[in-house]
Amino acid sequence: MINPKIIINILFATILTILVGGCSPEIVQNNKKSYEGPLIDTHMHISMTDHININEQNHALFMKIMDKHQIKKILGFNLANKKSLDMASYLAQEYPNRFEMFLQMTSPEPSKKEMEMVLNQSLFRGIGELSFNRDASTQDIHPDNVEFLKLYDKLADSKKLIYIHPANTKRLQKALSHNKKLIFLMHGTETLNEFPKLADGNENVHYTIDTAYLIGHYTNGRFESLLNVTSGKQEFLSALNKNYAQFMEGAIATYKPLVEKYPDRFLWGTDLWLEWQFDEDVYDAIVGFSRDFLGNLSPETAEKVAYSNAEKILKKDS
Ligand SMILES: [Zn+2]
Repeated sequence: MINPKIIINILFATILTILVGGCSPEIVQNNKKSYEGPLIDTHMHISMTDHININEQNHALFMKIMDKHQIKKILGFNLANKKSLDMASYLAQEYPNRFEMFLQMTSPEPSKKEMEMVLNQSLFRGIGELSFNRDASTQDIHPDNVEFLKLYDKLADSKKLIYIHPANTKRLQKALSHNKKLIFLMHGTETLNEFPKLADGNENVHYTIDTAYLIGHYTNGRFESLLNVTSGKQEFLSALNKNYAQFMEGAIATYKPLVEKYPDRFLWGTDLWLEWQFDEDVYDAIVGFSRDFLGNLSPETAEKVAYSNAEKILKKDS
C-alpha cells in the first residue's frame, strides 16, 4: 500500500461506475513489443474498507475485466472486518483458483486474533502485507523482533506465506533467513537497490514489481506514484499519457538489470487500492503499461515475472 493514511473505498462499488458508463478518455497506446501472455497480479488491495457492497453483478463484471487481460490469479489483501471477510469468502468460493487471499493488519504488528485467523482458516493463504515501512520502525517494531521470528515458524509449519513491505535492510537479513521454509514476498522501493544482498543465499525471498512503482517519479529519494498523487481517472490517464515514455525509460533503467540477473525471483503486481483505480479504463491503461514494460525484458524473463514465478510460489503444496 502506498499511502495508508487515507480511508479508502475500494473495488467493487467502482464497477457500478463502469456499469453506469461515462466518457472514455484516450486509451494509452501499447507499443509493439508488449508481453502478450498470462498474468498473475501478486499485489492488489481488494478489500480495504468497510464500505464494500457485495453485489454479484459487480463481481462478475470485475472478473470479466480480469479475463479480458488474462489475469489468471490475484493475490489479494483483505482487512479483518466483517465486510472485507465476507467479500473475501464470497470471491474465494465463487471463483475458485482465481484468488489467493491474505489477511492485512491494521497496525504493524498482527494481533493474536489476526494471527490465529491466518494460521487456522483455509481462506487465507498468508499474512500481509506487513508494512514495516510505515510507523513500525519508530515504534521499535522490526521484522527480526522475537515475536516475528516465532510467527515465521508458525507460518512455515502451516504452509502459509508472508508478504512484507520493509522499511530498510537493516533488520531484514535475520528475518529472511530465520526459517528458509517460509516464502517471503516483498515490495517497495526502499530495499530495491539492495535486493542482491537479500536474494543471495535466501532462495525463499521474492519481490513484486508493482506497476504503481513503475509510473511515477523519485522526489527527494522517495518514489511518488502517479496512482497516489493523482486524484482520479481523468487526471491519472492524462498524466500517464503525457509522461508515458519517461516512466517507461525509468522503469526499464531501474528494474531490467536486476530482473535479468534474478529472473526467478521477481513477480508482477499492480498495488491497486483506491476505488477509482479499478475503473476499467484505468485498469486497461495500467495493464497496458505493465505489458509494455514486460515486453522490454527477454521473452523468457517476461513470462517468468508475469506469470510462472508466481504460479510456482502459489502452488498449494509449496
Ligand atoms: Zn506496500
